[in-house]
Amino acid sequence: MSNFIDFLMSHSKSYGFIFPSSEIYGGINAIYDYGQNGIELKNNIKEYWWKSMTQIHENIVGIDSSVLMNSNVWNASGHIDAFNEFLIDNRDSKKRYRPDILIRDYLEQNFDSNSPEKKKFLLRLDRYIEHKNLLKIKNLIDELKIHDPICKTKNWTNIRYFNMMFQIHNKEKLFLRPETAQGIFCNFHNVQKSSRMKIPFGIAQIGKSFRNEIIARKFLFRLREFEQMEMQFFIFPDEEKIWYEYWIKSRLKWHFLLNLGKKKYKIFNHENLAHYASLGADIQFDFPFGFQEIEGIHSRRDFDLKRHEYFSKKKFRIFDSKKSYIPYVIETSLGLDRLVFALLSSSLKKEQIKKNEKNSRIILKLPPYLSPIKAAILPLTNKNGLPNIAKKLFNELKIDHKLVYDDKNSIGKLYRRQDAIGTPLCFTVDYETIAKNTVTVRFRDTMNQNRIHIKEISNIIEKETGLKNILKKILM
Ligand code: ATP
Repeated sequence: MSNFIDFLMSHSKSYGFIFPSSEIYGGINAIYDYGQNGIELKNNIKEYWWKSMTQIHENIVGIDSSVLMNSNVWNASGHIDAFNEFLIDNRDSKKRYRPDILIRDYLEQNFDSNSPEKKKFLLRLDRYIEHKNLLKIKNLIDELKIHDPICKTKNWTNIRYFNMMFQIHNKEKLFLRPETAQGIFCNFHNVQKSSRMKIPFGIAQIGKSFRNEIIARKFLFRLREFEQMEMQFFIFPDEEKIWYEYWIKSRLKWHFLLNLGKKKYKIFNHENLAHYASLGADIQFDFPFGFQEIEGIHSRRDFDLKRHEYFSKKKFRIFDSKKSYIPYVIETSLGLDRLVFALLSSSLKKEQIKKNEKNSRIILKLPPYLSPIKAAILPLTNKNGLPNIAKKLFNELKIDHKLVYDDKNSIGKLYRRQDAIGTPLCFTVDYETIAKNTVTVRFRDTMNQNRIHIKEISNIIEKETGLKNILKKILM
């Protein structure tokens, strides 16, 4: 597993997807930058999510609220009091861990997936977490004889609480937001009045969130600065169950359309809920280290709006059919970086090429509509005017599609490079292009090549990589 993650990290860096932040100064734990291909991938995911929320659903609109908010927001939301994780330190390694993750990782590594004993330990852990029984969690660590993964000793401190919000030291007390949702709640009336939407309706937002994670590791999985794609759907209180189930189904369908395989997803129903939630389920994804949450769907009921009503002294009520009520909220919350990780880790493959067993290629089998580059326009050789013809074609097509032109290597190497960044199509200009206005199209996954007229190129790119076909399937 760690070999694969090392390979993924190195591939992501070599091909301009992900770079460690401020690397020239030794980096910073669990913060990453997106390179030229990473940002294209991220933007394509955002477009897929944004359109499937705000374009496909006429009763969902988007906003972009600020990262810094009045600190009363975090009193009202409960984050100042309750956004805590518990931690344990090892006195020898001086490393800090989340005890629940320490135990889960230990059980994952030391027991078969279906072992009844493992299940018993997990049940006990869940019970202790639910009752916030820190002493019993510590006893479980001792009972399992879990040692520090780094220094291998069992010299543990007691378990204690730790607030995960980043505080900014300024004249006034400010926090970096730990979730984007509060910007939506605070703007509830602004959006409702200015859009004239009626319940049920949703507000979507994509933005940065910050959490001072105790163990920030596993590449993009647990970051301290990350992006969330959240949607809060405001409903009649007595329709909570209907909409909760609707959104679980709908979000799962959205993930299935990424075509990474249905077996890669599981629904995990929560018993231990976050402080604001009354129902909660995770969509889990099969990451290189096993199934873990990629998206959370919660019923937040009227928790947030009620608290904002109390703290701000402003009304958060809807007047409908002569009734006044505070709407309930179903939230869908997807981590963009976790999704990038899921996509990269399940798309990166080393493949033997059948025709010549000695040869292999590294390929990123990203969903074509999310690939950073949709197609490459390549001259067969660097001579006899072919680069000029290819460049002209590229300039004509680049208005409609995200393309690259490349003539820096031999054609074989150019194909390999496009495979490695996940480009679904390559169009090669050769001598027949001069004579007959045709090019070869090469498909990334099959490596099949066909001869086509240059007039067909644009349609082929749209057919193979367009988002439209996927959005249509959401409606089916
Ligand atoms: P976890 O239990 O893994 O810490 P969470 O339950 O705290 O996650 P939520 O508060 O429900 O997560 O946040 C919604 C989504 O935001 C998560 O499903 C995840 O995809 C993403 N997310 C949360 N914390 C992080 C993080 N530290 N780094 C990257 N993504 C994150």
